[in-house]
Amino acid sequence: MSNLLKLWKRWSYLILIAFLIVGAFDFRIGLIALICMIAPVAVSIFKGRFWCGNLCPRGSFYDNVVSKFSNKKKVPKALKSVYFRGLALTLMFTVFTTGMIKNWGDLYGMGFVIYRLIVVTTIVGLILAPFYNERTWCNFCPMGSLAASIAKFRNKKNKDKNALLSIDDSCVGCKLCTKTCPMGIDVHEYKGDVLTHYDCIQCGRCVNKCPKKSIGYKK
Ligand code: SF4
Ligand code: SF4
Repeated sequence: MSNLLKLWKRWSYLILIAFLIVGAFDFRIGLIALICMIAPVAVSIFKGRFWCGNLCPRGSFYDNVVSKFSNKKKVPKALKSVYFRGLALTLMFTVFTTGMIKNWGDLYGMGFVIYRLIVVTTIVGLILAPFYNERTWCNFCPMGSLAASIAKFRNKKNKDKNALLSIDDSCVGCKLCTKTCPMGIDVHEYKGDVLTHYDCIQCGRCVNKCPKKSIGYKK
């Protein structure tokens, strides 16, 4: 991983904090967050959920700040189910679309719709983190779910080419990788194979945690 990406992963949460503070005084700032709504989906066409684990300022906030008080537990299956994710997606798009139609042409009004969405969804993530883990929100984030659907389709078409991680046969099955995965993926089950799970945000935690160095980035 390049030093620039490491720096971004470590500090880009400051962008989120600046956004939340400045946006409270000028709702037009909210419009900037459209980038964070479109980018996860756009990036997923080429790199799966890479945006979520590496480039998203809110992801950086969860990893570097919220992780200090999260419970480091697996997110319950119900919160990751297709039904719950579909519900979250429908709810968010209903609020977004109706708000945009109502305020069309008014930059303050449109910005407020997006600013409010970011505030509310960040709070949801903050509330759930102490119960599960810091990335609980990312397990059912509507934009993340859309990105995951694209990743799933993409992986089906060309599993070997699209996978970014692989696990070699030196794996001893300690499951430390699985325990550390914030997305609840059973990483150890991919022993001797490439890791293609559509929800992998490519955060690299499993790579760093493995005591046998069995997990690596595919060349
Ligand atoms: S499988 Fe590894 S890289 Fe993917 S989300 Fe889980 S810990 Fe991160
Ligand atoms: S942490 Fe490494 S050795 Fe342990 S189960 Fe995972 S891949 Fe295998």
